[in-house]
Parts: sequence; structure tokens; C-alpha cells
Amino acid sequence: MKRRIQVLTTRLDCIDIRCLNLDFSGFGDYDFLTFKRDGKEYPIGVAKTALHYGGYRYWLKCDYCGRRVVALFITDRPQIACRHCIHAKYESELESKLHRDARAARTIRAKLGWDMDYTFYNSRRPKGMHKKTFDRLVAIHNEKSAEVVFKLKAAGWL
Ligand SMILES: [Zn+2]
Repeated sequence: MKRRIQVLTTRLDCIDIRCLNLDFSGFGDYDFLTFKRDGKEYPIGVAKTALHYGGYRYWLKCDYCGRRVVALFITDRPQIACRHCIHAKYESELESKLHRDARAARTIRAKLGWDMDYTFYNSRRPKGMHKKTFDRLVAIHNEKSAEVVFKLKAAGWL
């Protein structure tokens, strides 16, 4: 089967099929477009669905989830993915940052001799610890735990 390859150079971060201004009428089920950016080429599958009153609607295919979408995004990775995939990645990064922060806050709580319970807050400096060290640890703790405490409160745990 002959594949239609069209190389388009793009500076855009978002590729919206509605803005491409291309004639897709010759496209079959296995055709794709190739986008070129910064010397890298991204082959993107094109899908089509039949419209009720004849003709077709054309879609871009996300390489990661296979969804038919109207728009794809070029991430700084760089890779091209749909907003669902980018959002999923973003969410998991946020989640792992939360875990890292929670661990950092717990480590400091242990150093300060505080209870692991986040509702426990003690302004008393442990014996033998310099005030400077104490203030620094408390500041880091508060910064790291802010988001954790916020999430715990939102979940009704605090
Ligand atoms: Zn996707």
C-alpha cells in the first residue's frame, strides 16, 4: 500500500488538525503526516470517520494512547501526545513531587523529635540544636509540608 507522507515544518507547540488547512480527501486509513521541528521528524497517524451525510472527518492519532484527537501537543521531551497523555504525565509528576515533599517533611519531623502526625506542631527547639539550625529546619519543613497539609485537609484528614 502506498503511504502518503507530507512533511510539514512547524514551530507550533500544538498541532490542531482544524488549523492545518490541508486537503485530506486523498488520505486512507493508514496514512500519516510528518511534522518536522528542530530537525526531528514526527510521523502522526491520520484517522478518518465517516460523516452521516457523506464525506469524512479527519483526526490525528495519538501515538501513546491511540485516541483520535483534534489536537496534539509537542512536549519539551520532545514527543507528540494528546492532552490526555500529557495531563496524565503531569499529574504523576505532581504526585511524585508530593511524595518527595512528604518524605522530606517526615525526615525533618524525625530530626526535630516531632510526632509523625501532621497536626502535631512544636515550636520548642530540641536540646543541643542551634537556633539557626532549628529555624532552618522548621522553614524547610513548613515549605515541604504546606502542599501535603493542604491535600490532607482537602481530603478531610486534618
Ligand atoms: Zn494520548
